[in-house]
Amino acid sequence: MPSERQKKRAIAEGVRALRDRPGWDPRRFQAESRTERVKRSLEDARVSEALSDADQCPACKELRDQGDAGALCQEHLREAMGLGTAVTGK
Ligand SMILES: [Zn+2]
Repeated sequence: MPSERQKKRAIAEGVRALRDRPGWDPRRFQAESRTERVKRSLEDARVSEALSDADQCPACKELRDQGDAGALCQEHLREAMGLGTAVTGK
């Protein structure tokens, strides 16, 4: 039967071994996933904004009428990708 002390040491060694492996540092993993989450929610907001703008856009409608229901014109494609803000407001 391992003592409590031995068990704790075994756990601590396991954790250290895990941290030594690149990409498995729990602290770094948390920081990255937080950044990823923020990035993803910004992306989601940007894409939904571009898509709702695109619903009012004649150029997008024209592309969609050709068969691709999710098509975006050059302008709105750029906006959705974060490459620039489409000039709307017609
Ligand atoms: Zn458009």
